[in-house]
Formats: sequence, structure tokens, C-alpha cells
Amino acid sequence: MTGQKTGFLDVLSIEAVYGQAILAVRDVSLTVEEGRIVALLGANGAGKSTVLKAISNLLGPARGRVSRGEILWRGEAVSDLSAARLVDRGVVQVLEGRHVFAQLTVEENILSGGYVRKPSRSALNDSLEQVYTWFPRLKQKRGTKAGLTSGGEQQMVAIGRALMTKPTLVLLDEPSMGLAPIIVQEIFEIIRTLNSQSGVSFLIAEQNAALALTYADHGYILETGRVALSGTAEALRARDDVHDFYLGGAASAA
Ligand code: ATP
Repeated sequence: MTGQKTGFLDVLSIEAVYGQAILAVRDVSLTVEEGRIVALLGANGAGKSTVLKAISNLLGPARGRVSRGEILWRGEAVSDLSAARLVDRGVVQVLEGRHVFAQLTVEENILSGGYVRKPSRSALNDSLEQVYTWFPRLKQKRGTKAGLTSGGEQQMVAIGRALMTKPTLVLLDEPSMGLAPIIVQEIFEIIRTLNSQSGVSFLIAEQNAALALTYADHGYILETGRVALSGTAEALRARDDVHDFYLGGAASAA
């Protein structure tokens, strides 16, 4: 699939820079086919977040920009669309670091994602109840201030809020960061359910390659702003070099 346009998400040879001189992404092409979970892997600083922000036009606040290449969503170039307009078209990003409104309750945080579509009260409630069926834990904590919930719950709030926009593609940045393995697994299980039951597609940036490749259909491994390897998750898991460098083989052998 690499190199061929899918008509869903197609990132074509992008380069991205910060300021005048920092070349964060040198040449990245990737595709997400509709209905798939795709993992974007690589070490700290490899360029994963920059690629996700490039897709949703979120580089501006950091004085970043896409300096070469093109990003197509459903066949259309999206470089002129704001992140909010992309949300209208079904692409939503969950930023790294679980950005919740600490002083608002869990429920208020989730609801804040729903207003962008200006829905009726009953449509908003239906979406909220749907989020609670995916994240039953959040229903129990609905009245708790988000800042007082656990890291895992905050990550769920951030994802739940994004789901209120009824996306077809979720760009998820480092969902495992700083969380206990059991919670991370719970989050990835929910992602799998969302994908299989509701057809939501995911592009997930992750440092934890072993975990992400357990749930993804395809993977791309970035190294210093370039795609070093790509393929089906199964093929990547089977490769010795991937095992040694990205799945902890070399580290455990050392
Ligand atoms: P992490 O897991 O740490 O988020 P990453 O793979 O997502 O890593 P990026 O955050 O995309 O990597 O960073 C890619 C490169 O761009 C790094 O060299 C980083 O130092 C640089 N970079 C990232 N954000 C900025 C910024 N706001 N200003 C300048 N350089 C930046």
C-alpha cells in the first residue's frame, strides 16, 4: 500500500520545519486506508508528533510549517484548512500529554468536544452516552474534576472528548505516555473496539512499538524525520531488525 494513494489519508513526501532552520521531518509518506489502525513509530524526537500536527495544521503555534509535499484527506489537499475545519470533515487530533480542563468535571470536559457540531441537546446527550458505553469508568467519574482523576482517566477523557466530534479518523499522539501498562492496554482495547464496531480509523504515534503493533494493521517506523521501515504490523513484528531495535530485543539481550 505504501506509495499508492488511498483516497482516505495520504501524506505525500512531506518535509516540515520549525522556525527558519530546524528540519523536523525530512521526507515522510504514509497512508491510512479507511477502517484501519496505523501505527507511527519511532524514538523520542523522530518526528511523530510533527507529522500528526502537520496533518491537522497544528504546527503554526510552534512556528512550524510543512515546507514540501502534500497532505490529502479524501483526495483533497488540506493545507489551507484549519484544525477546526478538519474536525468538521471528520479528522480529529488527540494531542500528546492529555490536555484536559483540570477545573472542569469529567463530563464537562467530554461535552466540550461536542459543541463544535452545534448539535441539539438530545443529540449531545446521545453522543455523551455513547462515549460512556466505550469508557464506563468515565461515567463513574462524571462529576469529578478532571484534574483530580488518574492519568489513564485523563487520557480517556481526552479521547472521549475527541469522539464527541464524531470523527472518521482520530490522530492519537502517544496514548501510552506515562501510564501503567494495564491502563494502556485498556485504552488500546477500547481503540480496537471503536475501530471494529464503529469503523473509526486511527493513526497512532507511539514509542511503544511492541504494544502499538499488537493492535495496528500497518506500521511506519520513523528515524530522524524519515520513514525507515513500513509494512503490515505482522510483517514488522516478524522482522529481526525491528525486534532488536524497536521491540526491546537488543535492550533485553544487552
Ligand atoms: P516525542 O515522542 O518526543 O514527541 P516525536 O517523534 O513526536 O518525539 P517530534 O516532537 O515531532 O518527535 O520532534 C521532531 C524534531 O523536531 C525533534 O528534533 C524536536 O526537537 C524538533 N521539534 C519538535 N517540536 C519543536 C518546536 N516546537 N520547535 C523546534 N523544534 C521542535
